Amino acid sequence: MGKTDMNSASSSRKIRIYDRREFGRAAAAALTGAAAARPMPFFGAETPPPAPPLPGAQRRKQGAVYARPLGDTGLWLSELSIGGSPSPPPNVFLAALERGVNYCDTSPRYSQGKGEEGIGKILQGRRDQVYVGTKFTPTRDGVMNTADAIRQVEGSLKRLATDRIDLLCVHGARSEAEVLSDWVFEAMEKLHAAGKARFFGVSVHNTAFEFNRKLIECGKYHALLIPMNMYYDKKALGDNAAKGPEDLAAILKLAAEKGVGIIAMKTLAAGGLANVPTPDGVSPAQAKLRWVLRRPEVTSILNEMVTFEYLADDLAASAADLSPREEAWLRDNAAEGSRRFCRMCRTCEGQCPARIPVADLLRARMYAADYGQIARAKDLARRLRASERLRACTRCGTCEAVCPWRVRTTDLLGDLRSLLG
Ligand code: SF4
Ligand code: SF4
Repeated sequence: MGKTDMNSASSSRKIRIYDRREFGRAAAAALTGAAAARPMPFFGAETPPPAPPLPGAQRRKQGAVYARPLGDTGLWLSELSIGGSPSPPPNVFLAALERGVNYCDTSPRYSQGKGEEGIGKILQGRRDQVYVGTKFTPTRDGVMNTADAIRQVEGSLKRLATDRIDLLCVHGARSEAEVLSDWVFEAMEKLHAAGKARFFGVSVHNTAFEFNRKLIECGKYHALLIPMNMYYDKKALGDNAAKGPEDLAAILKLAAEKGVGIIAMKTLAAGGLANVPTPDGVSPAQAKLRWVLRRPEVTSILNEMVTFEYLADDLAASAADLSPREEAWLRDNAAEGSRRFCRMCRTCEGQCPARIPVADLLRARMYAADYGQIARAKDLARRLRASERLRACTRCGTCEAVCPWRVRTTDLLGDLRSLLG
C-alpha cells in the first residue's frame, strides 16, 4: 500500500513561524494590507462583520469566522478547517479554535501517525470544541478486509486520544473497489454501531463526474473531500478548460441535491500564481480561497494554517467576498498557471509507453518546487523510485499531448530531474 500524503492541504506560501506577539501584526496586515476598501479588520475582536451575501448558502457566525452545514449531517463546520500535513503547531491550532475554527482534518498517513498524535495532545480537555476528521486507506495492491479497516481506525482513535471520529473518510480513493465494496461498507457500519465513527466521507483527487456520481448516489457517504480551485473554472481557463469544469459543477450540484457535504482541498492550487505579481490590494491566498468560498455548495476548506500569518490570512478570506480586482487577477493568470497544475486524473499514464507514474512524480516536484518541502519531496521520490522512472522516460511528449488540461509535463518532469540531480 502506498504511504503517501495525497490529501494534504496545499500552500503557495513559504513558511515563516510567528510568535504570539506577531499575531496581531500578521492579522492586521492580512486584512488592512489586502484591500484598503475592505471592511475593518475583525481579527482579534469577538464580533466579525456581517457575512457577505452568498445566494443559496446557509451561513452563520461562529466566533471570528463563519460556518456552514455539512450536507445533511446536522454538523456546522467553520468555512476554514485546520489540520492537514504538515500539522499546525499547537499555538496556532489553539488560536484557530479560539476564533471559531471547529473542524480539524488529519490522517494516519500524515507524518506516519505523528499528525494524529499531535492533534490528540492538543485536544486533551478540548475534544468537544472541535469536530475531528481522519481517514483510512483501503489497499490498492493487496488483500484487505473489514477487520483490517477497523484496526486502522482503532489505531487512529488511540493516537487521537478520542473515543470517536466525527467524519471518517476513505483516503485518496482511486477505484470503485476502494470505496464501493461491501467489506468497506461493513467496516463503516460496525464502526458506526460501536460509536467510533459518526459520519463518513471520501477524499478524491479526480473530479471525473461518473466516479463521483457513484460515491454520492451510493447513499453511504455524507461528504466528499474534493479538489477545488480556480484552475477548475471554465471562464478563467478558456481553451484550457478541458472537461473538468463541467464535471466539477455537476458534482457540486448533485451533492447538494443528495445532501452530501463538500469539503474543498487544493484550494491554493499547489502554489499556482505564487510568483505572479499582484496589483495593490490583492492577496493571492485570499483571492484563491474566496474563489472557492463563493460556491454555496462548499462547506469548508482544508488549508494549511501552520503559522499565525497563514491563520490570519485564511480567516480574513471568510470575511469578504471575492473582489472584482481579485477576480480579474485570477482570471488574467489562471490559464497559464493551470498548465503547471496536475489534476492527478492519470489520463496520461495509460498512454505512456514507459508506464511512468506521471501524476505521482509531478506531486513530488510540487512538494519541492511549489511548497519548498524538499525533504518531503525527496522522500516521496525515493518511494516512487523516481530517478529510475525518469531514466526510463523517453521524453516522447505523449503525456503532454494527451493531457486534457494541457499540463506542461515535459517542463515539470524536467524540474524533478534537476531536483534529483
Ligand atoms: S499530467 Fe494531465 S493527464 Fe497526467 S495526471 Fe496530470 S492532469 Fe492528468
Ligand atoms: S514523456 Fe516520459 S512520462 Fe511522458 S509519455 Fe513520454 S515516456 Fe511517458
